[in-house]
Amino acid sequence: MSSQGRTRPPAPRAPQEPAAVEPTPRSPGRSNMAMQERLRPSGDNNPWIPDIIEDWLWGPEETPRGPDTTPAPAPGVTPPTPSPPDATSWWDAYRAESSKARRQQLVFAECDAGRMQGRISALTRDQRHGAYRDAVQEALDFLQLHATLRASGTDEAAMAQRQAEYMTEEERRLAQQQGAGPTPTPQQIEQARAERNQQDYVVEPEQSRLRWPRLSPAEQQRWNARGAAARRVLAAHINRRYPQYPVTESQIIIDFAEVERLGAVAFNDGQNHCTIGFDVVEAVELNPEFAVSTVVHELFGHNEFDRGFSVSERLFVEAVARQRGVRVEDVQLTDDEWSRFNYFESEIASLVWEFDLYIARDDQGHVNPLGSPQALMVSLMRNLQSQWAPDLVRPLLSGLYTRFRADPDVSDAAARFFADNARQHLGITL
Ligand SMILES: [Zn+2]
Repeated sequence: MSSQGRTRPPAPRAPQEPAAVEPTPRSPGRSNMAMQERLRPSGDNNPWIPDIIEDWLWGPEETPRGPDTTPAPAPGVTPPTPSPPDATSWWDAYRAESSKARRQQLVFAECDAGRMQGRISALTRDQRHGAYRDAVQEALDFLQLHATLRASGTDEAAMAQRQAEYMTEEERRLAQQQGAGPTPTPQQIEQARAERNQQDYVVEPEQSRLRWPRLSPAEQQRWNARGAAARRVLAAHINRRYPQYPVTESQIIIDFAEVERLGAVAFNDGQNHCTIGFDVVEAVELNPEFAVSTVVHELFGHNEFDRGFSVSERLFVEAVARQRGVRVEDVQLTDDEWSRFNYFESEIASLVWEFDLYIARDDQGHVNPLGSPQALMVSLMRNLQSQWAPDLVRPLLSGLYTRFRADPDVSDAAARFFADNARQHLGITL
């Protein structure tokens, strides 16, 4: 199976009619492959998801967050110790601020004063994952942006300008390589950009060699039964061993054909489902513990990291606007640009999230057939290095690292795993 491991579904190759997306995806057991195909998990810059659905999926952009939805503790369960009132008062003011730019200023001011990490860690786990979930995720994005800018020694405009110049240089170089001569024409530059865009970050498998379409109906039926059994075992195992990662059976979707077609191990459909196929079913049959990190990667890594916005995508969009002389609001990312400037960042974070849970082998000597976060991090680091102006790579890594250290859900070991990879693969010490 592809080394890409867990991917999210690619966005459509051509823009789809927004009307094709039904505004009713709330029911937890829903499995609509046509809809999964159309949904980009990120609400940012997405021309295919109507605003009403984006608001439902990711929360409204400029309005205060909703009321406290933390469920009451079940009978017999000790309620969590509430944090002191001043721990939440800053967050209440933050949530009440309707302007995103102003919310960014609030976080930047706390970062400058060295207080932001403390603001986050002052909340209880239940608060961070309940009433203040959206606010914390967005604040972490701003914290990451702040650290990225600080490491660059400049501001967003200067970083975007540097990236715009780099992309122009790269396109010119590519056009020249293709025989355009010392001064390529605008058409030749356009052609080079299109080809650079086709350097697919998520490689799809050879469709004629897929396993599922060659199985007989009876064999497919047997696999479906194995899948259903694996789903039951896996959900029960995670809920028993890792109550901090509650998973329902209906959140796990078995779809051998689609997972294989995408060259994935599993993917998050953007609707809080983890879709699995051959690899994860076989891993669960060996030992359900082998698949825990994959489910947490999909349902907690991507879901938590993607709630705010993508720092890389924001910088890239600004760079594209400068490079091509268009307004930021008018920049529409192609699928491949989205993969290389949005998805890769969420994927890095999800590998960090699953790091502590992955085991390479068990006590019975079985080897985990699912790829390790370590093995999967390499291609993401290389993507970052090859897509950004060289002097922006360190600031981007530094921003992510600062965020991982500030996020109470990321362990010290997992943050170190990220820093070790940056040193090992890119020679950058964070
Ligand atoms: Zn992923």
